[in-house]
Amino acid sequence: MEIVCLDLEGVLVPEIWIAVAERTGIDALRATTRDIPDYDELMKRRLALMDENGLVLADIQAVVGKMGPLDGAAAFLDDLRPDFQVVILSDTFYEFALPLMRKLGWPTLFCHRLETGPGGAVTGYKLRMKDHKRQAVRALRGLNFRVTAAGDSYNDTAMLAEADRGILFQAPENVIQEFPQFPVAGTYGDLSRAIREN
Ligand SMILES: [Mg+2]
Repeated sequence: MEIVCLDLEGVLVPEIWIAVAERTGIDALRATTRDIPDYDELMKRRLALMDENGLVLADIQAVVGKMGPLDGAAAFLDDLRPDFQVVILSDTFYEFALPLMRKLGWPTLFCHRLETGPGGAVTGYKLRMKDHKRQAVRALRGLNFRVTAAGDSYNDTAMLAEADRGILFQAPENVIQEFPQFPVAGTYGDLSRAIREN
């Protein structure tokens, strides 16, 4: 049996923080793991910007509630799930992602949790574990599953390397250049074919 591990943002749904930046007009929130590979540095910057601008958890949830999956993402998942067990491995937070999971038919999601204080201020975040995408792939392989992983960014490359097969999906040019060992898929059709290749 084969498991397909998919990144969430940039693969199945748009980048949540870019949507927040657009909705709030706080341009500095546009930075993602594509721009700042160090996730802790990126998250500290985001939380500081939220604090400076008085944004609380409910503000982000309101933005996410209006978002939908990328065009074709739900159909792509529906097409995979009869043939593969699909697990989404994401560096987002359950508090943000649940409205999008509903729109994708509640796939299995492994991600992190936020810490909140009075008034719903986001005071910190708790990684489920460090390097969890790679650790999840390693654990699944340890259970004797063959694993194919697909993602679009720096925070996916460790899981792509750990998997039996890693595929970049709609990755930016700098990631493609830095990781030439991974095949690149540009559309859901390409990705589906690459996953189904033996
Ligand atoms: Mg991504």
